[in-house]
This record gives sequence, C-alpha cells and structure tokens, in this order.
Amino acid sequence: MALSQLRIVLVGTQHPGNIGSAARAMKTMGLSRLALVAPEKAPNHESLALAAGADDVLAAATVHATLAEALADCRLVLGCTARSRRVALDQLDPREAAGRMLTEAVGGAQVALVFGRERTGLDNEELQLCHAAVHIPADPGYSSLNLAAAVQVLAYELRMAALAAAPAVPAAGRADPPASHAQLEGFFAQLGETLDAIDFHKGRAPESALRKLRRLFLRAELDEREVRLLRGILADAERMAMLAGQRR
Ligand code: SAH
Repeated sequence: MALSQLRIVLVGTQHPGNIGSAARAMKTMGLSRLALVAPEKAPNHESLALAAGADDVLAAATVHATLAEALADCRLVLGCTARSRRVALDQLDPREAAGRMLTEAVGGAQVALVFGRERTGLDNEELQLCHAAVHIPADPGYSSLNLAAAVQVLAYELRMAALAAAPAVPAAGRADPPASHAQLEGFFAQLGETLDAIDFHKGRAPESALRKLRRLFLRAELDEREVRLLRGILADAERMAMLAGQRR
C-alpha cells in the first residue's frame, strides 16, 4: 500500500503532547511512518496519553539529529507552512500535494511531508530542503493550525487520494448482469408505447420527454432484473389503460 511509503516528519516539536496527537491523526488515516527531528522533549507520558491507542506509531517513530538526515532516502519532500506565499517555493494546497505524493509513492519512491515547530514553523534553511511548500488555505487573518490538526488535514487528503487510486471494487451486491443494449432498447420502445397508451403526451411531440427519460434510465445503469421489473410495471399500466378505454 502506497500509504506505507509516506513519512510524516515533525521538526523541533516543542510539546510532546502534539507528537502523540500527530501519531493518532496519522493512524486514523492509515499512515504509520513518523520521523522526529530534534524534538525539544522526547516523547513521554503526555505523548502516549494523546496518542490514544496509536502508541505503535509512536513506538516505531525514528529520531534524527537533522532534517537532512531524516530525508536522506526521499525522492519527494514537501514542507507544510502556515505562512502563505512567503517562501520562494512552488505552493500547493493539501489536495494537490496529496495527489503528487501518492503518484510518487505508487511509483515506489519514498516521500516525506515535513511539519515545523509550534512557535516558529520551519526555518528557511529547512524549507530549502523541500521541493514545494504546502499551505492549508486557512483564514488569512488566522492561518496557523495546531500542529496535529495540520497533520490531520494532510493525512486525510492522503487517504482520500489513496482511496481514489485504489482499483475500483465491483459495486457491492450487484448480483445481476447489467442490461444489454438490446434489452434497454426493448424497454425504451415499450416505454414509448405505454406513454401513448396512457395519453401522457396530450398532443405534445413525444420526442423531448422520451429523450429525457432515456437519459435518466441510462444514467441508472440498469441491470437485467431491473429492466424486467420496469417492463412489468409498463405492461400493467398498458393493461389498465386498455380496461379504462373499454369501459368508456
Ligand atoms: N507560528 C508558526 C506556526 C507553526 S504551526 C508559523 O508561523 O509558521 C506548526 C506547523 O503546523 C507549521 O510549521 C506547519 O508545518 C503546520 N501548519 C500549521 N498551519 C498550517 C497551514 N495553514 N498550512 C500548512 N501547514 C500548517
């Protein structure tokens, strides 16, 4: 799974609790690789409490002295910044970033997403190590998210990108084969006859209504059983129309 090649890197984290919250945010979205660069305090009881069951992610976290060391084997590195367009890097929104990261990961590359310190974010030298910046388009007047909240937003987008890329599962519970072209045309022909029989058009040209109904039923991707059901209804409607005609 491509998500296992995605690494979340936290640089210089000041509050151990945020490391735990970030681990939890990651685990809910299927991410497991956490790297810590020179955290101010090592993960402790506060981290564990806020990890709330994501202690495996916390326990497996690697610790590095420098950001360069944490990124050594990565082919794509994106840096998250709360400050919009203040860096000399391409800027992506989380969705664009997730798409790009997933494409690389599916191709087999190691990919990192870097988050900065709570107080000061990433410094310029650290941003220089990134291929592009990622900015969550928050309210410009108050754009700085809590570190773990920012991790959650990006982890969610990564998961959505991974789910979209996964091979489509055949629609659950679709036991009957889709209706064939001929079956659908048979249904449309009968629908036309029934509409005449119940005097639906009342003197108007039938083409426009028939075109709209065709579009509606084609969009529904009917299966064979559904076409039989609909044709049964039409047959009954025609029979009722005939009886009504006889009575008159
Ligand atoms: N005062 C700091 C904010 C740091 S918040 C600053 O101005 O940079 C801690 C980290 O969370 C940031 O370094 C960044 O990686 C991430 N983050 C917070 N808000 C973000 C946003 N709107 N877009 C992208 N990342 C954000």
